[in-house]
Amino acid sequence: MISQRAQRIKPSPTLAMDSKAKGMKAQGVDIVNFGVGEPDFDTPDHIKEAAIKAIKDGFTKYTPVGGTDELKDAIIEKLKTDNSLEYSREEIIVSCGAKHTLYNIAQALFNQGDEVLIPAPYWVSYPDQALLNDASPVIVKTLESDNFLLKPEELAKKITKSTKALVLNSPSNPTGLAYDRKKMEALAEVILKHDLYIISDEIYEKLVYDGTEHLSIASLDSRLKEKTIVVNGLSKSHAMTGWRIGYAAGPKDIIKAMTNIQSQSTSNPTSISQKAAVAALKGPQDFIETMRTEFDKRRKFLVNELNLIDGISCLMPNGAFYAFPNVSKLYGKKAGERLINSSLDMAMYLLEEANVALVHGEAFGDDNHIRISYATSMESISKALDRIKEAVKRLS
Ligand code: PMP
Ligand code: GLU
Repeated sequence: MISQRAQRIKPSPTLAMDSKAKGMKAQGVDIVNFGVGEPDFDTPDHIKEAAIKAIKDGFTKYTPVGGTDELKDAIIEKLKTDNSLEYSREEIIVSCGAKHTLYNIAQALFNQGDEVLIPAPYWVSYPDQALLNDASPVIVKTLESDNFLLKPEELAKKITKSTKALVLNSPSNPTGLAYDRKKMEALAEVILKHDLYIISDEIYEKLVYDGTEHLSIASLDSRLKEKTIVVNGLSKSHAMTGWRIGYAAGPKDIIKAMTNIQSQSTSNPTSISQKAAVAALKGPQDFIETMRTEFDKRRKFLVNELNLIDGISCLMPNGAFYAFPNVSKLYGKKAGERLINSSLDMAMYLLEEANVALVHGEAFGDDNHIRISYATSMESISKALDRIKEAVKRLS
């Protein structure tokens, strides 16, 4: 019999949809994959070269559990330059992707009965990681009319004696929306009144649009920095999803606990990927701007076109590479005998009848929406839009 812990959770729905879409593609179906959140750009050559050099130089052995000093120093420099945050090596840990970083945080921080506040729509793994670590995810709904940003009064209402931490993800997966300074400061005020940890997932920091400034909540106030674990990684900023490098910066005691946990689970992240990560952080950064500019073009095209479809409305995101259209006006309609009454019905309809893979909003805690990842070519976006338009027309 498998453990109760394992029975509490489901597989990652984003990865499940990706594997479904890839499976259909392998069978020869002409699928457009809007499903997975992964840059379609290749890892830049100078990063690959650093990895090849690491292999040739024999840098292929265990490294210190929490990452090499060289990589920690590159991360420290990055946090200082980009986020005005000062850390020492004891306040940094490198793990096997930001997902692993978040998991280590959950292991190091949560006890049975702890409540973890998770604003919805949320990235799929936050609630399940809390559940795997015996904590209770407390979902705090945000409104589309508030750009899906958490309001301070809504946060305050959900805080109890058992609240241990708040998960903040700006820019957000799945909504693509980011907090501005004023809204972040308003949240910070409530957080400071209570003794909450903040898990600040900033993995989309480099992908912001329309002049949006990425802001780390830890940089607002030194008291906040003492309670914040900043999470970041190279998957999205440097198109390095497969290399599995994520990191956290935070209070020494938490980082130490995470490092102990990592020493008993995965040991160090791959030595070769760490060398590549140093090259990514210290090398030329112009690649990011090229990628961001392309995402920006796709974002505007996709969202403008979605809003022209009857029954669909979509906020203009200002970060990440996701659009989160509201499709609930189409609920209750039918294509032949097929009734669309939920985001899953819609996602399955579009997958099976239009060959467009995307993720149902319910996986992110919001059944009125679907998530589209526009980290795919303009040509594919255009093709998928035509198919969605056709599929929606067939509903009556
Ligand atoms: N946080 C968010 C919000 C994400 O979208 C992702 C991407 N899956 C991650 C964390 C984890 O990224 P990775 O493990 O590839 O570093
Ligand atoms: N973050 C990506 C997504 O949301 C990758 C999949 C995952 O790690 O769950 O699609």
